[in-house]
Amino acid sequence: MRVSFYTLGCKVNQNETGALAQLFCENGYTLAGPEEEADVFVVNSCTVTAGGDKKSRQWLRRAKREYPGAITVLTGCYPQAFPEEAAAVEEADVVMGNANRHAILKNVDIALSTQQRVVDIVPHQKGEQFEELPMERFEGHTRAFIKVQDGCNRQCAYCVIPRARGQVRSRSEASILKELKALADAGYKEVVFSGINLPSYGQDTGTTLIELIEHSAEIEGIERIRLGSLEPDVLSDEHIARMAKVEKLCPQFHLSLQSGCTATLRRMRRVYTAEEYAAVVAKMRAVFHNNCSFTTDVIVGFPGETEEEFAQSLKFVQEIGFLKVHVFPYSQRSGTPAATFPDQIPESVKAERVRAMQAAADAVKDTLAQQMLGSTDTVLLEKPLSSQLFTGYTRLYLPVVVTAPNASAGQIINCQLDSWDGERCRASVVK
Ligand code: SF4
Repeated sequence: MRVSFYTLGCKVNQNETGALAQLFCENGYTLAGPEEEADVFVVNSCTVTAGGDKKSRQWLRRAKREYPGAITVLTGCYPQAFPEEAAAVEEADVVMGNANRHAILKNVDIALSTQQRVVDIVPHQKGEQFEELPMERFEGHTRAFIKVQDGCNRQCAYCVIPRARGQVRSRSEASILKELKALADAGYKEVVFSGINLPSYGQDTGTTLIELIEHSAEIEGIERIRLGSLEPDVLSDEHIARMAKVEKLCPQFHLSLQSGCTATLRRMRRVYTAEEYAAVVAKMRAVFHNNCSFTTDVIVGFPGETEEEFAQSLKFVQEIGFLKVHVFPYSQRSGTPAATFPDQIPESVKAERVRAMQAAADAVKDTLAQQMLGSTDTVLLEKPLSSQLFTGYTRLYLPVVVTAPNASAGQIINCQLDSWDGERCRASVVK
């Protein structure tokens, strides 16, 4: 039997698809590519935007049309957040949410043997535990993504995620360290910690993210630890100082912004002001002696965002100097407070603001990359473009292409950054 996956959304979703694929393979399935024929098609959905829901439905429809005898599965955040709507998606033979992922095999078996639809969306429970889904293979990746946490206890006005993911629950440190040791033994040198709200790691188990980082850094063979998205309000002076002492920690911080305008942040129900955000960045730059970089997410066209507020947000993004910005147009999600806010912004205005914000962010990235030329940094070699040419990322997360004779993917080498083409740096190996 063959199973094919289609994954939408964040790194956590991608990690979970890997774990589900492993589960299927351990039970006699082989993996088929996204365009290949299969007996089971699984879409691991994302519901952050309405566009994500639509893509999931389209993919299921196409799988049913091209392979009418196959079993289709809709799982992930869309069914969890909108169970009634997802249960009515007739192109899906099995509909499941994020909870109780292990049941996927049993549900597929039932659908196969009875030819009946199975809808099994288990609501999140108060006090539920982190669901362990072993994941030891990251085929095609030289960096290993480790899910360490699930859920979010915040209530940002635009966000449907707490509904889809439930309350904060953290994976046990012992389980994470065991996985890290196995990854190190398998030759992985860089690991990325991911979660739905990563900084809340340990809130429910009496530990903290910084403790996890410190203990993970003790594992021999793991040379780089990278972090997923952080929130500015949880980065205390003590935690910043401790992070700076962990040499293996890549000093690239994805610090969630969402808007550079304090009035918009208040309406979004974010818990910091633009000024507080800037102060955290300044503090980190001082502690890391300016040898760090910042990336972020920004939403444009949030309800009530005036031209003036948008201009403030754009100016803030330029002033902080992000190495990379993911720009999203605000997406109205039913059931969230912001969906009913007055002064919704027309799609055409949002599109124009996305374009302007992205252009400003790209110009900043260009300037930063040019400033880095001539410096040296280590690069994890990722995709080989030829026998000697590799793509990769520096510790600061600058994309590079490096000529490295006699090297292989997965190796970390010291490079000098020579030139910038607007997309990547060309780099050369230094001894
Ligand atoms: S912190 Fe806010 S934006 Fe992030 S997942 Fe939680 S509710 Fe959503």
